[in-house]
Amino acid sequence: MIDLAHCQRLDAADRLAPLRAQFDLPEGVIYLDGNSLGALPRAVPARVAEVVRAEWGRDLIQSWNTAGWFELPRRVGDKIAPLIGAGPGEVVATDTTSVNLYKVLFAALSVSKLAAPAGQGLRHEVISERSNFPTDLYIAEALCRERGLTLRLVDAPDQIPAALGPQTAVLMLTHVNYRTGAMHDMAALTRAAHAAGALAVWDLAHSAGAVPVALKDCEADFAIGCGYKYLNGGPGAPAFVWAHPRHVDAAWQPLAGWWGHGRPFAFVPGYEPATGITRYQCGTQPMFSLSALDCALDVFAAAEPLGGMAALRAKSLALTDLFIAAVEQLCPGQFSLVTPREHALRGSQVCLTPTAALPAGCAYAIVQALIARGVVGDFRAGDAQQPDILRFGFTPLYLSHENVLQAVQHLREVLQNKEYMQARFAQRHAVT
Ligand SMILES: *Cc1c(COP(=O)(O)O)cnc(C)c1O
Repeated sequence: MIDLAHCQRLDAADRLAPLRAQFDLPEGVIYLDGNSLGALPRAVPARVAEVVRAEWGRDLIQSWNTAGWFELPRRVGDKIAPLIGAGPGEVVATDTTSVNLYKVLFAALSVSKLAAPAGQGLRHEVISERSNFPTDLYIAEALCRERGLTLRLVDAPDQIPAALGPQTAVLMLTHVNYRTGAMHDMAALTRAAHAAGALAVWDLAHSAGAVPVALKDCEADFAIGCGYKYLNGGPGAPAFVWAHPRHVDAAWQPLAGWWGHGRPFAFVPGYEPATGITRYQCGTQPMFSLSALDCALDVFAAAEPLGGMAALRAKSLALTDLFIAAVEQLCPGQFSLVTPREHALRGSQVCLTPTAALPAGCAYAIVQALIARGVVGDFRAGDAQQPDILRFGFTPLYLSHENVLQAVQHLREVLQNKEYMQARFAQRHAVT
């Protein structure tokens, strides 16, 4: 039986609870969208103001040297590295997830050497999932078009191993699915890709800071991820890139700008890629948003003595388990669970789709009615293959068990009062 007393007991025993004080969340809001835009860490506004006023305003151009601006992408990368099972010096924070995917996919195709258009007896396929985040598929499509390769999409995770073969150049997957919250077995699928002679490229957009990732232990080849979701770097925060040390110096990345040059201030006409992950930079990096991400990552350093990513994962699973059980207890028969129940297959979010007990097409309005009550989740549209989804992200850094129960109580009231029937909640915004 889930009730307030039960949740308060869990909160009293939660060692991570003090971390909530590191965030500046509005009063009365239960924020279940940290998987889309992480919340504001309390220390960030002052840090960004200092970069604006003192580093830019007062110290002007010297700050490239004196404030460490020039090295900041790599310093931030070093803070991300332990969260994803990478070593120091192996990660750089730069550009966007989409742009970084282009770089690493290009590099992976170069490293694989055998990648070539069909009919040449070599590897001509990039494999991914139809349910992958569309920008990943668009980037892969554009690159495959350019190279004369084929982007082959499988319909279900269990079809991936059988799709791999002597024609596969790269397996490109997102570790945790943005719509369903389903998580892949990174180690097993990387092994399967390697057994087929292909490389494995992983997108960690919904993993970094949410679930423990072991890139090196899994022998992954390349990875990228997002700075503004579970890493809380702020809207449009720089993303990150990792290349396994065995590959990092083996290929150029395609956006060979001066920040990836070995001697950018020699101003020589020929490109000489920097050694190491630095070559994955392109041009001048945004210091305000890099500084915000840098500062935001200190929350993870504060979580380290409390058990770090392992403790965050345990709490994330406790919160998502609790949410699922509370929905089943308080809203029986109203929703089907889209996210896997099995822990090993679940990221840090829970997705629901309305059953036939609710009016068709009401998912969007339910989400809007919840937002009006201060419970912020989001909606993802479905199509013929996929249902409409109510999506709830659970950030163990700042959510309590009591918050989870409150959110589900609001959900029950939205249903009981039929609030989703109100016309104002049907109004679609540009960003869902
Ligand atoms: C959020 C997300 C992105 C975002 O890409 P941007 O370039 O930052 O807009 C890309 N891929 C996946 C899988 C994501 O979840």
